[in-house]
Amino acid sequence: MTTSNKPIQSHVPGFPRIGAARELKFALEANWRGELPDAGLEAVGRDLRARHWALQQQAGLDFVTVGDFAFYDQVANHIQLLGCEPARYGFTAGQSQLSRYFAMARGDGNHEPAACGHDHAHDDGQPHASAALEMTKWFDTNYHYLVPEFTAETAFSLACKRLFDEVAEAQALGHAVKAVLLGPLSFLWLGKAKDAGLDRLGLLDRLLPVYGQVLDRLKAQGVQWVQIDEPILGLDLPAPWRSAFENSYWQLNQVGVPLLLATYFSPLEENLSLACRLPVAGLHVDGVRAPHELTSIADWLPVHKVLSVGIVDGRNIWRTDLDAALATLAPIAEKRGGKLWLSTSCSLLHVPFSLASETALDQEIKSWLAFATEKLDELYVLKQALQGHHDAATVNALDASRAAIAGRRASPRVHQQAVRERIAALPADADQRRSPFAQRQAEQRTRFKLPDFPTTTIGSFPQTAAIRAARAAFKRGELNAGDYEARMREEIADAVRRQEDLGLDVLVHGEAERNDMVEYFGEQLDGFVFTQLGWVQSYGSRCVKPPVIYGDVSRPKAMTVDWTAHAQSLTGKPMKGMLTGPITILQWSFVRDDQPRARTALQIALAIRDEVADLERAGIGIIQIDEPAVREGLPLRRGRWDEYLDWATRAFRVSASAAADGTQIHTHMCYAEFNDILPQIAAMDADVITIETSRSDMELLNGFGRFRYPNEIGPGVYDIHSPRVPGQAEMVRLLRKASAVIPPANLWVNPDCGLKTRGWAETETALRNMVAAARQLREEH
Ligand code: GLN
Ligand code: ZN
Repeated sequence: MTTSNKPIQSHVPGFPRIGAARELKFALEANWRGELPDAGLEAVGRDLRARHWALQQQAGLDFVTVGDFAFYDQVANHIQLLGCEPARYGFTAGQSQLSRYFAMARGDGNHEPAACGHDHAHDDGQPHASAALEMTKWFDTNYHYLVPEFTAETAFSLACKRLFDEVAEAQALGHAVKAVLLGPLSFLWLGKAKDAGLDRLGLLDRLLPVYGQVLDRLKAQGVQWVQIDEPILGLDLPAPWRSAFENSYWQLNQVGVPLLLATYFSPLEENLSLACRLPVAGLHVDGVRAPHELTSIADWLPVHKVLSVGIVDGRNIWRTDLDAALATLAPIAEKRGGKLWLSTSCSLLHVPFSLASETALDQEIKSWLAFATEKLDELYVLKQALQGHHDAATVNALDASRAAIAGRRASPRVHQQAVRERIAALPADADQRRSPFAQRQAEQRTRFKLPDFPTTTIGSFPQTAAIRAARAAFKRGELNAGDYEARMREEIADAVRRQEDLGLDVLVHGEAERNDMVEYFGEQLDGFVFTQLGWVQSYGSRCVKPPVIYGDVSRPKAMTVDWTAHAQSLTGKPMKGMLTGPITILQWSFVRDDQPRARTALQIALAIRDEVADLERAGIGIIQIDEPAVREGLPLRRGRWDEYLDWATRAFRVSASAAADGTQIHTHMCYAEFNDILPQIAAMDADVITIETSRSDMELLNGFGRFRYPNEIGPGVYDIHSPRVPGQAEMVRLLRKASAVIPPANLWVNPDCGLKTRGWAETETALRNMVAAARQLREEH
């Protein structure tokens, strides 16, 4: 029995704001087009909040969470709340707070957001306006936040009352309110110093009083709790940052409103005892990512403090094994009684809204899943069961959960004997090409006879309105498969003709037939399902709909060979086959939680390996396996990097190593901090790697040079995120810079990334200049 008769409580760290039917997305875009006035947008926001709070209350949570709503991004909300909007946009007097907010988020409309070179599974293929503030990934999720900018002059003030209005709104609806804030240390950590040498931590003394004022206000409003998120406690923090916590929270705790310090995504490790002793009223921890720490936390956290255990996975879409969860929770409840709260591991922002709208999803697989609203119900059942309330509803819910878990475990659809056997029998050298790079390079040079500074592109060509319309008509059943295929073949022929005219050396088919680089493959592989409305916010109004990997992965038949062979038949130049790599497919999907990610990656790798072999048999001599997501898959803690990089690079090599020496394997990665993983990138052993470098003015290449990157490399010479057409001289300058760092014989000439979001006119002019730049370099060398 529990040590106090206070009931166990439940809450969520945050709830999806985009809406069951992406109402927020459509309202935002209408507002940006000038079709919905600000007041209308505000009304949509109010309505969504009210609905989401009602769902939380009806599901039996003890508080609704207020402060997780944002018209673009929760970090951007804090920039306004704390009064540190960068002055450089030249805001005009009288400009509304909302229009300043969107100016920060979207800028002048000339540039795409900095963080997103690729456009995987986004809900439209439209070029997007500029993120005036830089955007970057939120920890290890696919959500992007707007990066606060700090200078030595940055001042803070309580500058926006939106949060307090939302609290009042929830209270007026009769809800018990827990407000949520991003904590001061995480806010500073996630921002960027714009002045060289500025120590962001030095701004803490200016920032804390404003947090104090925010808390004062919330207290005066009568909120029950303030959840204050410090996810950076799950990172490897420098000592000064760690030691700043104690004093900061001592100050904030003086306000006298109960604080629930929330961490998520990562184990606390060396920060565990710090987190337990901070002067706050409660601690929330991620019981899914760090279940092994629960016992020590339950022991070390002083008994008068609340422990909120994130037991339901906020990052994945599987039903919780409620029996297992109860077994974990029971001893903690024993120790902490009413000081135990139940929660999801993190905000539900990272999972789709509800299964209710999934009418086409396979019934059996659907029974294994839980999206945001289903996770609320799971929390309620856990709370009831843990307190011994075995009413009929609880008993039924437990039974249903048990049946679903057992069904999933035993389902023949999850396990494919042949896949298991193949992995068990995989030779140790299945991840090795036949010969070392030098030998392959010699053979490939004889085979392809490419000029120095060979030119190519990254794969996709403009996804024109006509292409998208044809695909939409095909999906609606208005265009039959034969006609759709004929249209796509024409698009491919058109792309080939244009590339020949431009004089490119290695051609691509252009990816006209692909909606998205992961979905295209997932739809053809066994072990994947797709939802209808399983949207997850990526940034602003943009959402992604990740595939669900539910079972062993295998490839029933060739996926790209017909299209590629068709393209090759139209030209005498080498046609580069185009595949998505195993880590990228894994990283951009919801993955199984019943086997290690490494194993799923290997299964995907084997499917791609078979595709490589089939392309090769069809006469395709150059094959690119895109891996833009390798860097973003890195664990948050450095101590775990090696293990990940070992299996991730091995999966890539397994996918590539069926190729004969004379087959040239390319890979492509978008902009990322490569420098700290160069040995592992080299260990992928692709014959050619293309990377995004133009926006760093080739600086990114220096690391490859210093490291003496052994294989061939194509540093992007033009930025595909902007419609701006670079001139020949500009690209020549970048190539000269590259030649000073990398042996010229190993250099390729290509754009930064795929061209799917661009128009044909700009693309052709830019590529013509690019080919001319390559020719000029050939003459110089
Ligand atoms: N081949 C893909 C394309 O060109 C690669 C995109 C990416 O790396 N994100 O679109
Ligand atoms: Zn790219």
